[in-house]
Amino acid sequence: MYAQIIVDVPTQQTNHSFDYLVPAALQDTIQKGMRVAVPFGRSQRLVQGFVVDLSASTKFGGSIKPIDHLLDFEPVLNEELLQLSQWLAQQTFSFWISCMQTMLPNIMRAKYQKMAVALTASIKANAFFQGQSTKILDNKLPLAIQKQLITWKKHEVIDIKYLVKNQAQPLKQWFIKRKDYDYSKLLTQLRPQAKKQRQLLQLFIDQPQLRTISLQTLLQEKHFTAATINAVVKKGWLAKVKQVIWRKPTTVNEGPTHALQLTLQQQAAYRRIIAAHDQVILLEGITGSGKTEVYLQSIQYFLAQGKTALMLVPEIALTPQMVAQVRGRFGQQVAVLHSGLSKGERYDEWRRIETGQAQVVVGARSAVFAPLKNIGIIIIDEEHEVSYKQDENPRYHARDVALWRGRYHHCPVVLGSATPSLESRARGQKQVYQLVQLTQRINQKALPQVEIVDLRQNSNLTSQPDLSLPLVKALQECQQRHEQAILLLNRRGFASCLLCRECGYVPHCPNCDITLTVHLQEHYLMCHYCGHKQAIMKTCPRCGSHKLRFGGTGTQKVEQQLHSILPQARIIRMDNDTTKRKNGHLQLLNQFEHEGDILLGTQMIAKGLDFPNVTLVGVINADTSLVINDFRSSERTFQLLTQVSGRAGRAQKTGKVYIQTYNPQHYAIQLAAQQDYEKFYQQEMLFRHQSGYPPYFYLIKISVSHHSQAQAFKLAFQIAQQIKPVLNPPEQLLGPTEPTIARIKNRYSYQIVIKYRINPNLLKTLHQIVNNVQVDKKRGFLVAIDNEPQ
Ligand code: ADP
Ligand code: ZN
Ligand code: ZN
Repeated sequence: MYAQIIVDVPTQQTNHSFDYLVPAALQDTIQKGMRVAVPFGRSQRLVQGFVVDLSASTKFGGSIKPIDHLLDFEPVLNEELLQLSQWLAQQTFSFWISCMQTMLPNIMRAKYQKMAVALTASIKANAFFQGQSTKILDNKLPLAIQKQLITWKKHEVIDIKYLVKNQAQPLKQWFIKRKDYDYSKLLTQLRPQAKKQRQLLQLFIDQPQLRTISLQTLLQEKHFTAATINAVVKKGWLAKVKQVIWRKPTTVNEGPTHALQLTLQQQAAYRRIIAAHDQVILLEGITGSGKTEVYLQSIQYFLAQGKTALMLVPEIALTPQMVAQVRGRFGQQVAVLHSGLSKGERYDEWRRIETGQAQVVVGARSAVFAPLKNIGIIIIDEEHEVSYKQDENPRYHARDVALWRGRYHHCPVVLGSATPSLESRARGQKQVYQLVQLTQRINQKALPQVEIVDLRQNSNLTSQPDLSLPLVKALQECQQRHEQAILLLNRRGFASCLLCRECGYVPHCPNCDITLTVHLQEHYLMCHYCGHKQAIMKTCPRCGSHKLRFGGTGTQKVEQQLHSILPQARIIRMDNDTTKRKNGHLQLLNQFEHEGDILLGTQMIAKGLDFPNVTLVGVINADTSLVINDFRSSERTFQLLTQVSGRAGRAQKTGKVYIQTYNPQHYAIQLAAQQDYEKFYQQEMLFRHQSGYPPYFYLIKISVSHHSQAQAFKLAFQIAQQIKPVLNPPEQLLGPTEPTIARIKNRYSYQIVIKYRINPNLLKTLHQIVNNVQVDKKRGFLVAIDNEPQ
């Protein structure tokens, strides 16, 4: 018996498998989709590989090496995911191996170098890890391995454990457990002063079905002290036990929620979804039209049929409220996958899905690879979001993967949005997708009134550079009414660049040719591409002037301005800095809900949030996303403004929105203010048609980089020459051009953009280029192909 294996060796990242002999001892256990350790190369060192096929014969003429040992007891990739990985490699012009690894939790994707060492050690470590001990420095282990283990960081040691045992080390926690007492009677035996002990017992009296409660919950959420708990345990009335728990990500409001009575529009949408079989439904529903309830009831329907459900949400910031709702409805059946989880949590959730204990998966982009079986429905909420596209290899779009899985499982795929991507909407128009619309807000709530504030007019200005008079007035009134406001700063990062008002000098990164960002509190300038840092200068290095000021604006600066103009307001700032900690978003959102007046944040606050007391939304600068040179800039601006406006006036009170801009006439801003998606779609399609952009053409971007600018250009030019002959007009190749940021980490890059329609020859040529990438890499080039760049 032979196995076809894709090895994990950087220099061999082709999509061709190698044949290995399956030793007799492994013939009964080996399966497709398992990982194995195989000898490779001249040195015959052990490397990791995936079994992609098994056969009775081999076409390979040379001497065939046997598989050394299996790394899994069960396949980590089932038949579906294996097929999907192969398709993905084709689709994204990337390596099969990296596609397979992308599908697995991080913790199972040990880095190659570490892996080689780990594998050699793993056989010897086998005995150790199969024992019960979790201590690393166990003297049963040979000294050499002990030393190796110490040098690896904690998670990498865990990797070996997984390799050998293919099982997470279960996490145990203390629980307080009910005993067989009538606690009401016991209460009488307590001294009246023992108030806390009474409260503890009362907990078990009030909830007769409560069997155990975690010690952590008692201490942190219920605010009991260890002394109180121990006192009751010591009396023998409650037991303290250690139990295995699944590491479960925390969420807000996990109380059960019940299905709502659907409105007529919601019912119509629901019926079309459950009757859709393997069709794609584009659920276009304005903000506040109740898409979530339609999702939840559709999921319910398929669960009742014994099937599973996959639901994608764009970002972690959006996840807490959505996760809480899904958990509230489906409880323990739900697994959550997103990048905010610890590696252990992620692995546990993955195992719960894989073993069928979780039937509903909610997660961000990579959750689209969740090992669910028998999928009944796939939902992508906010389908237009950029975050569904991965911007590193493999550069996949979760929507495309979802469509593939939908076809595989013959199940409906629901794409939901208030502002669908032009691509999806165009397919809806052509009836490739079924277009289902929700045109009314729940309870016929009016959409918020939107006012455009022209920042060019002096009469609109205040003492604060980023806050206009109408917005400040509205904020003051909002505060007087004890209502809340959300302010959007349309910008990533929190600071800005430094600018000499005398000569116009702006400090740039010495490595990257991009402007350095000011970090006010820490007092330095930083490059967000390569991390270069330097002190903030006091005088201009070019002209010696002292008149240096901060050019653009950041959340911190707006926060200061708000403080000086509205000293009473409790401001919650939400940006990359304040949300860095685990569950940072969640805590800030909670804080805002209970004790905040203004939520000030970057793009991350624009979507999904549903706070009934928010009646005012302000956009500090609508223009920033308009000026970036990207053909989607109008679409992005329209989407962002529509999304953020939708945060206002969701409950009883009507909302008001202020959009500050220097381009009040721009159609993206005008139509967002009117919340008119239809008109925007028509106008934007016209522009795309005239300029030859998606959805009228497909796009592919190729970037080539090298330490030498001349070399980078040369290869980019060669590639362009190779591609041009296979294009059929009006297909087009643009470039090679220097991208906006030409130099990153001292590498120069050039890019080529191809606009094409259906062209098999082009795809063939591109795959040839991919096959050459390894050779190019040895010569110092990095070549990346991005299908449908965002
Ligand atoms: P969308 O995602 O379309 O912007 P949501 O799903 O957030 O809208 O729904 C808006 C609000 O309406 C939520 O507070 C939700 O609980 C409520 N809602 C949704 N459907 C119903 C219904 N059928 N009856 C009553 N309230 C509903
Ligand atoms: Zn100067
Ligand atoms: Zn830099």
